[in-house]
Amino acid sequence: MKYRLAAPALVVDIGRLSDLSYVREDGDVLAIGALTRHRDVETSDLVRAQTGLLAAATSKVGDPQVRHRGTLGGALAHGDPASDLPAALIALRGSVVVQGPAGRREVAVDDFFTGFLETDLAPDELLVEVRVPRMPDARWSFQKFNRRAQDWAIVGAAVVVDGGSCGVGLVNMDSRPVRAGGVEAAVDSGTSAADAAAVAADGLEPPSDLNAGVEYRCHLARVLTRRGLEEAGC
Ligand SMILES: Cc1cc2nc3c(=O)[nH]c(=O)nc-3n(C[C@H](O)[C@H](O)[C@H](O)COP(=O)(O)OP(=O)(O)OC[C@H]3O[C@@H](n4cnc5c(N)ncnc54)[C@H](O)[C@@H]3O)c2cc1C
Repeated sequence: MKYRLAAPALVVDIGRLSDLSYVREDGDVLAIGALTRHRDVETSDLVRAQTGLLAAATSKVGDPQVRHRGTLGGALAHGDPASDLPAALIALRGSVVVQGPAGRREVAVDDFFTGFLETDLAPDELLVEVRVPRMPDARWSFQKFNRRAQDWAIVGAAVVVDGGSCGVGLVNMDSRPVRAGGVEAAVDSGTSAADAAAVAADGLEPPSDLNAGVEYRCHLARVLTRRGLEEAGC
């Protein structure tokens, strides 16, 4: 609404649906209610222990005021490629649960982001839960490049390595949150971090704006991905 991209006739405040604010173990998954605020994700002992990448990425969102108000579900439903949390969820191969009059369905994160500020959510559906595989032994890294600590990422890279399998999500490198599939395949086949990171920007179409042009963003994606892979032990 602030961007003047939407002018709804009716606005419903879901902020007090406290039933949708929780973090709980559910088998081999961590289930996080859509209305769980960033601050509660960032400081959750469960999130830190079971999916540390998500806690780390969340701690980099805006400033404390933003993290006390914004929600994980809101950040994902917004579908912003510049947001930190979609990239983390992509790296972690998470999913979202959405619910509407037609029932409840689970959508893999790779199928959720469909375009710039667009998602698979139907107009009458609510994102109710975020599901992240539990990875207590994973090594991970969240690399965010910005000019001031609380700014949005110019580019970011979320990296997780668990049991020989690698996940990499990129921030602000295309019209939607994206997976660096070429990097993942290279790492999984034993390529060095430096060589794998060299393909981080391949096939992507990052934006050009006052902060950075396309070429610089591609350079950042390669550098941040290499740093992330190295920090995650690749
Ligand atoms: C000053 C500032 C700095 C920020 N910096 C960063 C940053 O550095 N990194 C970053 O990643 N983010 C950043 N953000 C975004 C912020 O983290 C919020 O997560 C994001 O704006 C979503 O906020 P919200 O949860 O209040 O959702 P809203 O803003 O209320 O909603 C966003 C959109 O999602 C829809 N929506 C919300 N919840 C649901 C739901 N459960 N189901 C279906 N649709 C839903 C709304 O209708 C709306 O279209 C920043 C925001 C501000 C204001």
